[in-house]
Amino acid sequence: MGNTTDILQDSFGRQHNYLRISLIEKCNLRCTYCMPEGGVMLSPKDQLMTSQEIIAIAKIFVENGVDKIRLTGGEPLLRKDFSEIAAALAQLPVRLSITTNAILVDRFIADFKKFGIQDINASLDTLKEEKFRTITKRDQFHKAFDNINLLLDQNFNVKLNVVLMKDFNEEEIIDFIALTQDRKLSVRFIEFMPFDGNLWNKSKLVSQQEILDRAYAHFQKENIEQLPNEKNFTARNFRVRGFQGNFGIISSVTNPFCDSCNRIRLTANGTIKNCLFSNNETNLLQTFRQGDNIEPLIKSLLLKKKAVRAGMNTSAKLEDPKNHSNNRSMTTIGG
Ligand code: SAM
Ligand code: SF4
Repeated sequence: MGNTTDILQDSFGRQHNYLRISLIEKCNLRCTYCMPEGGVMLSPKDQLMTSQEIIAIAKIFVENGVDKIRLTGGEPLLRKDFSEIAAALAQLPVRLSITTNAILVDRFIADFKKFGIQDINASLDTLKEEKFRTITKRDQFHKAFDNINLLLDQNFNVKLNVVLMKDFNEEEIIDFIALTQDRKLSVRFIEFMPFDGNLWNKSKLVSQQEILDRAYAHFQKENIEQLPNEKNFTARNFRVRGFQGNFGIISSVTNPFCDSCNRIRLTANGTIKNCLFSNNETNLLQTFRQGDNIEPLIKSLLLKKKAVRAGMNTSAKLEDPKNHSNNRSMTTIGG
């Protein structure tokens, strides 16, 4: 970590050196678990951060110790000035990465290389064309899948985010793990999380244990090795012996990783969130536009960060809809 100041430390001593910036609220897919059925209320254009504002605000975070920035959204590659923003952020002393649905990736390979973006999280919840259409409401499976293979061919570090949902794609767990046999790919199974309007309910969740049980049954338990946890890990990682890639499980619901959380989120309309599960947002952009110092706002929001999942420290609290009904959907928060 660089020059960490105390504004990025919370009351539990966690240092927040990882900033996730949502560049845009819009998306070219309509994933049902992410977008509420009735669509999302988009912010008026004049309330969204301009490229200059994103860069200036990111610099303030970096001066205070952020050394890792992930660009997300909505779909970050839809933003017309994506390359301008990435070029400027690439000048900062940070590791720059992106989360994308991969639909537009082929147009940006040269930019990723130019700006040193090596770590790419791509989202794909099914390997079946029909199901892709059902979950995303768009007919773009081949584009996404071909682009993921293109990233692998070009030696990017690719993590594949797969949101698992009961009776939808749990039958594909083995097919996804099989992709790691001859690809240097990290497949990460993500538990379905509750957000405003995404019809979450616990029965749709596929737990860490169920994923492992399927893997053990298919590949034999003794062939599955657990890999060491990374620093500030969010996934528990495993490898089938002899496979080039690995698979991980992000169990924010059944088994959260809040102890090692180092993430803070900046939304496309310039608010910060201290936790993905929090309803609480602080508007930095307003203060920034008035020419005032935003650092006290960052400090104060981080000091309010709860030990676990925005205070939902039991599964009963998490399951209570009134605790997440005000939490904006992922597409406007930035995943
Ligand atoms: N559009 C890009 C993409 O899909 O990769 C970036 C934004 S998207 C909101 C970031 C990640 O959040 C995706 O991997 C997506 O699967 C995940 N996500 C969205 N809603 C979710 C939910 N309810 N539960 C778990 N993961 C979710
Ligand atoms: Fe778009 Fe990503 Fe949300 Fe899907 S998960 S609707 S691709 S923002």
